[in-house]
Amino acid sequence: MTLETLSPSRAGDFKACPQLFRFRAIDHLPEPTSPQQARGTTAHLALQRFYELARTERSPERLFDLFREAWGELRNEEEFAGLFASLDEERAWGVDSMTLLANYFQLENPETFDPLERELDLLEPVGEGMMIRGILDRVDRRPDGRIVITDYKTGSAPPETYSIPAFFALKIYALLIRRHLAETPAEVRLLYLNGPTMYRFPVDDRQLDAMEKQLAALWLAINRAIERNHFPPRTGPLCNWCSFRSICPAWENLEQLAG
Ligand code: SF4
Repeated sequence: MTLETLSPSRAGDFKACPQLFRFRAIDHLPEPTSPQQARGTTAHLALQRFYELARTERSPERLFDLFREAWGELRNEEEFAGLFASLDEERAWGVDSMTLLANYFQLENPETFDPLERELDLLEPVGEGMMIRGILDRVDRRPDGRIVITDYKTGSAPPETYSIPAFFALKIYALLIRRHLAETPAEVRLLYLNGPTMYRFPVDDRQLDAMEKQLAALWLAINRAIERNHFPPRTGPLCNWCSFRSICPAWENLEQLAG
């Protein structure tokens, strides 16, 4: 077995912890969905549809309506079944979600532009023998003609110095756009609705060439790990949020030692 495609999320998993990569990308183990993830999925769908509206209709109320509609469609899917213990809990989640969506209008004025693409699903050959897949939340063309990639986050922004891992995925998106449109994007942006905060990061060919080399090294390392069936766990703060901690060999060993 060899790697067929790599996404920014799975590349990030392997960098953070090869065992986590194995659980997700090789074993395909299911993970429980949290209310925060459900909010993220629903908000992304609402924001995607929001830009189908005429510019003058892009009001907070219309965005709230789109969120309600999107949740009405998603809430019956298996992934979200039993997410809330009661209707009151679900309503409180909805109210908090509206507050976050209202923040969006502090970050940009949606009446002033029309995106070039939304939820753009790209699968591109990058470098030698690599197939990279990514779904880009939004691609815009600035008034000066340059491309900007925007990623929505429904969580709160980490301090700027800790936002580098999130930009790792966005630089891969920039690489995909360079390949797809034969144009180098001018910048990538992270929009955190909780806060709200916007981080911007300029992009150039030199950085993207370096990212391509980094991905090639990662691709090689993943294929070597698959060949040897060797995915060493890397314990750290991420373990506190990891869905697989109860079955992770690193924690099994630590618990045995403690016992
Ligand atoms: S619990 Fe920690 S070490 Fe184990 S898979 Fe998850 S992140 Fe990796």
